[in-house]
Amino acid sequence: MIHKAHFNKIYDTAIIGGGVLGLWAARHAIKRGESVVLIEKRHIGAGASGGFLGALMPHMPDGWDAKKQFQYGGLSTLSEAIAELQSDTGHDCGYRMCGRIMPLAHEKMLQHMPVRIKGSSEFWADGYEMSLLNTTDFASDWINPDVAKFGIQYDTFSARVNPRAYLSALEAYVRPRCEVLEGLECVGILPKLGQIALLDGEKISAGKIIVANGYEAYPLLQPFMGAMNKDKPIGCGVKGQAVLVEYAHNDDLPIVYHDGSYVVPHANNRVAIGSTSVGEWQDATAFDEDNMGFYERATELVPALKDAPIIDKWASVRPRNTLEGKGTDPYFGAVENYENLVALIGGFKITLGVGHLIK
Ligand SMILES: Cc1cc2nc3c(=O)[nH]c(=O)nc-3n(C[C@H](O)[C@H](O)[C@H](O)COP(=O)(O)OP(=O)(O)OC[C@H]3O[C@@H](n4cnc5c(N)ncnc54)[C@H](O)[C@@H]3O)c2cc1C
Repeated sequence: MIHKAHFNKIYDTAIIGGGVLGLWAARHAIKRGESVVLIEKRHIGAGASGGFLGALMPHMPDGWDAKKQFQYGGLSTLSEAIAELQSDTGHDCGYRMCGRIMPLAHEKMLQHMPVRIKGSSEFWADGYEMSLLNTTDFASDWINPDVAKFGIQYDTFSARVNPRAYLSALEAYVRPRCEVLEGLECVGILPKLGQIALLDGEKISAGKIIVANGYEAYPLLQPFMGAMNKDKPIGCGVKGQAVLVEYAHNDDLPIVYHDGSYVVPHANNRVAIGSTSVGEWQDATAFDEDNMGFYERATELVPALKDAPIIDKWASVRPRNTLEGKGTDPYFGAVENYENLVALIGGFKITLGVGHLIK
């Protein structure tokens, strides 16, 4: 039940979307002492942040650019941000710097290694590194030597987080300190008036409007960000799915990544397997049993998981930015010509690793 008071008030900050980006934006605004309202169409964690994959994988340390530096800044400060969140809330986020292995299936992949190893020492500080290993360096049932024909790329910088536990911690911080309005859909933004229009015809007023509603932000932002070319969409949703399996391990295994499939070991004898690559889809959250190629590839890659029982399945849609001249780079900041309108739309795979950078 929404009380009328919400519609008569002018908040310092209104946030659309209760995923990892909206919740971090709320946490920072609350810490700055602002009055905050968070508007969520479904419930907190209903979007792409509410799954169980949780890979935090750095871009390759070659061809270094601003996007890679931004992601590095996120991943290298995340453990500290999570420690602070955990201490504020008493919630464990399931974060661990677990490292990552990638099989070198082709000779060409092996040829990249010297540049990447050099790049890791140049661009990754704090002793994080990339190296070339033999298949015998890992138990062969955690990586199939037949796939890793040319060795294994290993890095110590990759990490994992339990997305649902992470969101619970953020929610535990945010919910008692601001207005969280669930079940309300934002259908339009009026930045010049400092207002958000809701489906039921009501309006919410705020000094600053932060749009953080994942792939569903594109129609809201199109009038402001797509102004140069109104017919060209500024982004789209890419669907992915994941399964959670039960597999006894000591929680000392690295992530395995190959050919679009992620294998992410989690605490309590859980391993998540997933991929996000379906461009055309009908139902955002329906798990498609006919799209299990990612799982088959993953169990070929990690034979240990072949008989591990599947205990959960999940599907969702992540945003993919396509803004003219910016490619798939993330939008993190004020929208040009609208100082009070901020877009937080992660257009890349590692949103879980950079949410805390939003100020
Ligand atoms: C299968 C899968 C696996 C993934 N694995 C990883 C991974 O391992 N590592 C990683 O870093 N990233 C991963 N991602 C990507 C990552 O999950 C997303 O990029 C990230 O969670 C997006 O967060 P967000 O806060 O922008 O959006 P979301 O988490 O999608 O949150 C948006 C929220 O806005 C709400 N909303 C939508 N429209 C409205 C509206 N009109 N009004 C009000 N509220 C609205 C939604 O209900 C939702 O709760 C994965 C994505 C998928 C689909």
